[in-house]
Amino acid sequence: MNRKIDIEALCADKGLRITEQRRVIARILSESDDHPDVELLHSRASAIDAGISIATVYRTVRLFEEAGILERHDFGDGRARYEAAADVHHDHLIDVETGAVIEFVDQELEELQRRIAEKLGFRLVDHRLELFGVRLNRPE
Ligand SMILES: [Zn+2]
Repeated sequence: MNRKIDIEALCADKGLRITEQRRVIARILSESDDHPDVELLHSRASAIDAGISIATVYRTVRLFEEAGILERHDFGDGRARYEAAADVHHDHLIDVETGAVIEFVDQELEELQRRIAEKLGFRLVDHRLELFGVRLNRPE
């Protein structure tokens, strides 16, 4: 949701060696606000540097994910999607007909989850939630 995350700077913070190709991929990820999968990242990256292979994109997102820079999502279509982990917390609603992903934050829901964890004897530190829906009124 906050689209000003500098993944390159995060890599530097985590001590990741940043090659030119990784830099291109990091920039694309920083600028993406649509939860791209590896194929989409690869098509964007190869538009900038035709030498970037899909294998490099795979390795790079895995590296970033392991370093805690990226968060991987599964929106039910079997493809891993990525966004910056430092992004402002939000949940996702997936339109199962179009695959569109809508981001939302609901304070009542946040509070409810905190209370559930507490009731079970836990302090909530994180959660993931994906809602899957069809539009009530789809324009023809
Ligand atoms: Zn998101």
